[in-house]
Amino acid sequence: MAVWRSREANVSYHAFKRFSPETDTRQLGWSVQTLHMHRYRGRKSIRRLLSRLSATVNHALMPRRCVFCSVISGPNERFVCHACLGELPWIRHSCPQCGIQLPSELAPTVCCATCQSSPPPITATVAPLEYAFPVDAAIKAYKFHRRLFFVPAFAEILMCVIDRLPNDVDALLPVPLHRWRQMKRGYNQATEIAKPVSTALRLPIVTNVYRSLATPYQSGLDAHERRTNLKSAFRTKGRLAARHVLIVDDVITTGETGRQIARLVLANGAEKVSMIAIARAIPRAGG
Ligand SMILES: [Zn+2]
Ligand SMILES: [Zn+2]
Repeated sequence: MAVWRSREANVSYHAFKRFSPETDTRQLGWSVQTLHMHRYRGRKSIRRLLSRLSATVNHALMPRRCVFCSVISGPNERFVCHACLGELPWIRHSCPQCGIQLPSELAPTVCCATCQSSPPPITATVAPLEYAFPVDAAIKAYKFHRRLFFVPAFAEILMCVIDRLPNDVDALLPVPLHRWRQMKRGYNQATEIAKPVSTALRLPIVTNVYRSLATPYQSGLDAHERRTNLKSAFRTKGRLAARHVLIVDDVITTGETGRQIARLVLANGAEKVSMIAIARAIPRAGG
């Protein structure tokens, strides 16, 4: 299995970004409707209609490919093919509170030793994959090299485990990026992942939590250094309207970011906090 690198992959990324099964049908329906409604409304509507029709033809000529192996998706496959889905490093059994991998003999409700001795401010954590190849490569490509075509694949993976979340979650909170870093990157990787989850769960996204400090990158820091690095990094504008907030991130490393945000939102109106991420690094229990 290889993470997409080819030029061909980039071509199909563009096809993918602009056309998904849902939008395709919508686009076609919209086009027919537009033809009827805007028949005499001049060049602008015709130009838009032609562009949408040509987009539909392009899609037919360039079918979608699996984001991991770039094999053309089969009729029952979407963004990740069945073969790659089966080979991903799934965490089969994890601590319900911090998401760390645990031996499978333990009951599903048993927390790791660290969470038992010092419970984190997070009710539940769902992170279905281990931060290992090819997931680590995909997340780095997505985060640092603008490979946004991974977003629907990540959403597809999260949808496989969405029923593990507590059912009283009422808002999503993507981990905020400092505005300078977001300006430089062009997007917040956590927000992009939260958008399809928000659509699927029909939940709003909290926007009044922000990152007030442009902290150095966390990679390479131990738990204590991360704690110091993140101290007072997040702030809220006013109180939160949500009662059970679901923090969304791409990867959980030590869990310190989630804990810092959880403490902040719990002090500002939220009653419970849970967390979802695509992957969980496996440093040490509760770390
Ligand atoms: Zn594949
Ligand atoms: Zn734990």
